[in-house]
Amino acid sequence: MYTEDDPMLTPTHLAFVVFLGLILALDKHEWFVAVMFGVFVDIDHVFGLQRYVEANGYSAIMAASWDDGTGEPWKSLMHYPVGVVIVAPLAIGWRFMLPLLFWGSHLGLDYLQTATLAHAAVVESIFLSAVIVGIFAVSFLSWRSTRSAGDVRQYLQYLGRSLRSMLYLDPA
Ligand SMILES: [Zn+2]
Repeated sequence: MYTEDDPMLTPTHLAFVVFLGLILALDKHEWFVAVMFGVFVDIDHVFGLQRYVEANGYSAIMAASWDDGTGEPWKSLMHYPVGVVIVAPLAIGWRFMLPLLFWGSHLGLDYLQTATLAHAAVVESIFLSAVIVGIFAVSFLSWRSTRSAGDVRQYLQYLGRSLRSMLYLDPA
């Protein structure tokens, strides 16, 4: 039997936060808040992990649903809509109500995962691929907007150069 605890994988949450953050053109502080509320919400899974493994063994980590059969709640308040009483006050004063926006989208993704559990792996793969394409598209368009001309090939070359300089390699 499935319970309501069927989280999207953390990399999927992270990819979505990056996508949304690029669209909103977040600054440094806003990125921090976005990751805290969009990704770190899953920290409660870490606290519940020990009990889950004790009850089900290590191999159960790979299960689609982390239903541990004990019936005990192992998600914090932050994984339920009622968490809005904590998040909403924190969101006041932020552009786009950032904490609320990213926390809400985290819950939305987890809900999507639960609603499509029978096909969860497929749904998540498609969703993650779409988000990665979206990240590329948004970053390409913002790169493109800073110059008079430029195509995808030139953008890839630019990314390659940035990566090399980030890794302190000689420019090719
Ligand atoms: Zn979650």
